[in-house]
Amino acid sequence: MLYNYGSINLDHVYRVPHLVRPGETLASHEHRVGLGGKGANQSLALAKAGGQVAHWGSLNAQDGWARQQLADAGVDVNGIAEVAAPSGHAIIQVDDGAENAILLFPGANHHHAADDLSRLMEGTQAGDWLLLQNECSALADAIRLGHEKGLNIAFNPAPMSDAVLDLPLDRCDLLFVNRGEAAWLAGVAEDTDADALLTALSERLPSTQLVLTLGGEGAWHQHGGQRQFQAASRVEAVDTTAAGDTFIGYYLAAMQEQKTVADCLALASTAAALGVQRQGAAASIPTRDEVDTALASGQHAIR
Ligand code: ATP
Repeated sequence: MLYNYGSINLDHVYRVPHLVRPGETLASHEHRVGLGGKGANQSLALAKAGGQVAHWGSLNAQDGWARQQLADAGVDVNGIAEVAAPSGHAIIQVDDGAENAILLFPGANHHHAADDLSRLMEGTQAGDWLLLQNECSALADAIRLGHEKGLNIAFNPAPMSDAVLDLPLDRCDLLFVNRGEAAWLAGVAEDTDADALLTALSERLPSTQLVLTLGGEGAWHQHGGQRQFQAASRVEAVDTTAAGDTFIGYYLAAMQEQKTVADCLALASTAAALGVQRQGAAASIPTRDEVDTALASGQHAIR
């Protein structure tokens, strides 16, 4: 089983002609509210890919629709508490060039403590996977407790912050990072080329499997001196929100199916390429049938 201790956010998505500038008041031409949060997106992607995932997190009791949406997708939601604190939410601007900027309010995602995690971990078994992102509190406790339980730990340190540098990352078995996160963790400039980035990161975390995603350029896997590259599909992106989450969910679901690294990368990359052609976070995550069809046909563009 894979347990995803992750954020659940209510996403307020605004379509804008450009990302708002300091001091500017900008009219948005569209507003939608939907389920989001890196944690929830990754659970949804895992479930849509056919993977087995139990989500741990919390939401305000009035926002039970978000829990229901995860349950409807096949996520085990027994570890999602309904609490008095406001739900986490995000104000997302998406411009006409598909670039995004996000303001986060953590809310209930930051109300978890070590005791909650200890209780949740009672139901896990050594060898299960624990997936983490950087949108929930008590992450150091989650890594420590997960490690003590013999869980395999996958970590996506997004959104990146200095606090991540103090986490016991050497206890993580698998790390998903984009270019900015990789550079921050490795202590190198963001324009460092992928080769040097992977070298610097693997020197810092020699026994951790690394998956480095590079947007429309593609993705790398590195482990034990071996590297594999997967080019991104050439598609017309309209909204890259949750591209990384879709990639991670599909990659982990493929891992549950014991697929090779090359096949995990191919499935994840195809799913993310379909996702960036649609607007929204959760709403953009493709179904497994769509991804399998695109992979088999080599036709990744949505008409
Ligand atoms: P986000 O924070 O927007 O969810 P991220 O920064 O974590 O994304 P990226 O590296 O931007 O992650 O993208 C993840 C993967 O999605 C890429 O490795 C690639 O496979 C796919 N992808 C992203 N952007 C594009 C694009 N423009 N065209 C095709 N595939 C893309």
